[in-house]
Amino acid sequence: MTALFIYGIMCAFVFGLIFGSFANVCIYRIPLDMSIAKPASACVKCKNPIRWYDNIPVLSFLMLGGKCRYCKTKISFIYPLVEIITGLLFALLFYKYHLSLPFFLFCLLAFSLVVISGIDYYYQIIPDVFPLILACCGLLSAAFNPALGDAYLERIVNSVCGLFAGGGSLFAIGMLGQLIYKQEAMGGGDVKLMAGVGALIGWDKVLFAIFTAAFLGSIAGIFLLSFKKIKKRGYMPFGPFLAAASYTVLFLPKPEILINAFIAWETKLLGM
Ligand SMILES: [Zn+2]
Repeated sequence: MTALFIYGIMCAFVFGLIFGSFANVCIYRIPLDMSIAKPASACVKCKNPIRWYDNIPVLSFLMLGGKCRYCKTKISFIYPLVEIITGLLFALLFYKYHLSLPFFLFCLLAFSLVVISGIDYYYQIIPDVFPLILACCGLLSAAFNPALGDAYLERIVNSVCGLFAGGGSLFAIGMLGQLIYKQEAMGGGDVKLMAGVGALIGWDKVLFAIFTAAFLGSIAGIFLLSFKKIKKRGYMPFGPFLAAASYTVLFLPKPEILINAFIAWETKLLGM
C-alpha cells in the first residue's frame, strides 16, 4: 500500500463521518416529515441550536462528554456510532474500489442503507425516496459501472435484471408468506428497497444479498424468540438485515465462485 492510498482511505473515512452526521439528521427528521436542510440541528430538550463547533462528527461528542453544552442532557451514543459506522463503510469501499465511479455509487448505497436501517429499526417503515434514488442512479450509471460487467450492454442488462430480480424475488417471498401465514409477511418497503439495490449492484449480487439477509434474519429471529424479546409472529424489521447483506456482497468475490465452492463442498460431504 502506498502512502497516497492510505491517505485516500483516511479521506474516505472522514468523508463517511460527515455523511454519517447527515444520516443522523435524515434518520431523525424524514419519518417526522421535517425538512432535512432547515432548521439547523438543535438540542431535543432545551432547543438551543447546536453550533458548528459542537457538531463535528464524533469529536464534539467526546469533547462534550456526550452531554448538551447548555442543559447537560445526555446525547445518545447512537449518533457517534452511526457516524463511525458510515466512516468505516466508506473507508472499506475505498479500499476495495479505489477512486472510481463504483466507489461513489456504493458510498451512496452505503449511506442510504445506514439511513434506511435506522428508520426501519425505529419506525418500521422504509421511505420511498431512497429506493427511488438508488434505482435511478443504478439504471442511469449502469453503462459506465465496471462493477456490473465488462461490456456496456452487459452492464445495462445486469442493472435492469437486478431491479426485477431484487424486487420480484422479495415480492414472491412475501406472497408465499401471506398464503402460509395469512398475514403480511413482507413489507412493500423491503420489496422496493431491493429493487433499487438490485439496479445498483446487479442481479447476481442482489439475489445473494437476499439469501444472506434471510439467513441472518432467521438466526436473529430464533435468537430473539428464545430470549422472549419478540412474540411468535411478532414484527421484526427486515430492513437492517437486507441493508447489512446488500453492503457485504459488494466485497465478495463473484457469487458464482462461492456457489461453485458450496456445491463442491456439498458433493464432498455427501461422498459423491
Ligand atoms: Zn440541551
